Amino acid sequence: MFSKIKKALMGSDEPKVEPKKVENQESVVITEKREDAPEPAAGSKKPRVGYIHLSGCTGDGMSLTENYDILDVVLTDMIDIVYGQTLVDLWEMPEMDLCLIEGSVCLQDEHSLKELYEAREKSTLICAFGSCAINGCFTTYARGGQQAQPKHESFAPISQLIKVDVALPGCPVGPEMIRKTIIALVEGDMDYLKPAMDIASCQTACGCDLLNNVIRNAMCTGCGTCALACQTRAIKMIEGRPHINNARCIKCGCCYTLCPRSWLPEEQIKKDTGL
Ligand code: SF4
Ligand code: SF4
Repeated sequence: MFSKIKKALMGSDEPKVEPKKVENQESVVITEKREDAPEPAAGSKKPRVGYIHLSGCTGDGMSLTENYDILDVVLTDMIDIVYGQTLVDLWEMPEMDLCLIEGSVCLQDEHSLKELYEAREKSTLICAFGSCAINGCFTTYARGGQQAQPKHESFAPISQLIKVDVALPGCPVGPEMIRKTIIALVEGDMDYLKPAMDIASCQTACGCDLLNNVIRNAMCTGCGTCALACQTRAIKMIEGRPHINNARCIKCGCCYTLCPRSWLPEEQIKKDTGL
């Protein structure tokens, strides 16, 4: 599945391009490359990337830009942005190696539906970028029906309509996760990408997943990651155990996908314990 983009990312013998340095800026002064900043791919082998924004709050795109220090390198030297509203002056969708899709899809919006299906057809890899794209998140509760678009009233995660290859959870996705995923893609680190591939077809998410699959299975170590990950503060740690307030849960799925105990495969546990 990843062979084409992996080849595009890894297959160049060209000399690597040094990152540009930005100097004399007041608020964001990036003069040196971070140690974990990825090396840019060179020349014609740069992967062709598209960005589609469907229904959501734009938080994931904003989170992407929080990676100030590598964004310059990523956008100029590592990838070619070939499609995206406000990013590229192009109406026809080209062939792409990777298409990031932010937001859920409005089922009454013909343009969004057409764009989604076309992206699946033309992109080797589809990444559901953020919890709205993965499982609907807060747009699940959106009634829509705004004055300009009175018929827009139901929203679905994109994996309900097309096959998704990689999913990055978050409301929004954390800048660090975006950074690490970019590096993993550049370095072809399929081990890092595996969990993101595993949740690609997940269409629902809730604090209940944590309760049913981790806490009630005596898998919880009380690390508190879920409480830190929950943006609505629906989870409180009480005496070392997470307690979930369902009334505050917006179904983003971050608690479950970021819990270090939610990834233990059942077969491996059975094998290790001999049960
Ligand atoms: S992240 Fe998982 S292991 Fe950690 S406290 Fe929450 S449920 Fe328990
Ligand atoms: S409990 Fe919090 S982190 Fe978990 S799904 Fe609900 S809103 Fe998201």
